[in-house]
Amino acid sequence: MQPTLITHNETETETLGAALGQLMQPGDVLALVGDLGAGKTCLTRGVARGLGIDEPVTSPTFILVAEYTTARGFPLYHADCYRLERAAAEAQAIGLDDLLLDDGVAVVEWAERIESLLPADHLRITLTALDDTSRELTFMPHGARSAELARRIVHG
Ligand code: ADP
Ligand code: MG
Repeated sequence: MQPTLITHNETETETLGAALGQLMQPGDVLALVGDLGAGKTCLTRGVARGLGIDEPVTSPTFILVAEYTTARGFPLYHADCYRLERAAAEAQAIGLDDLLLDDGVAVVEWAERIESLLPADHLRITLTALDDTSRELTFMPHGARSAELARRIVHG
């Protein structure tokens, strides 16, 4: 059984993201999977807040990757692979694979579309709408570092 958490409104999802952001270290990658409206951008907004980013975070659907500077000096890359037709090839062409190995942290929406470009260690988070305002988040760590991150977020 994978560890899961349930949030009951947008604020709870953002707060969970902020807790994740506070724990993230350079090199960490969150691979978000879930339908439109599942809460991927909402969670990312929280991650940005946890990293001390004051700028508004919107879905980078049209620009594919947005870069923010965190209060701790390293960048946050926020990618959205929804609109990539041949996702892995196009993501590689815009250098997303390099960004995921960069000294920053990264959050990728529709990460299953660029599975082959994800670094060996990444934390996959699947978001599922249970009803209008409840979301189930399932944490699937790949690698030792993301297992530690998942453990700290799920068990405190
Ligand atoms: P995605 O990026 O996965 O397409 P968004 O984060 O942009 O999703 O949007 C999520 C939508 O679901 C928003 O309209 C938000 O208000 C709504 N919502 C309702 N309940 C929740 C919840 N528990 N967590 C996150 N979003 C929620
Ligand atoms: Mg989104």
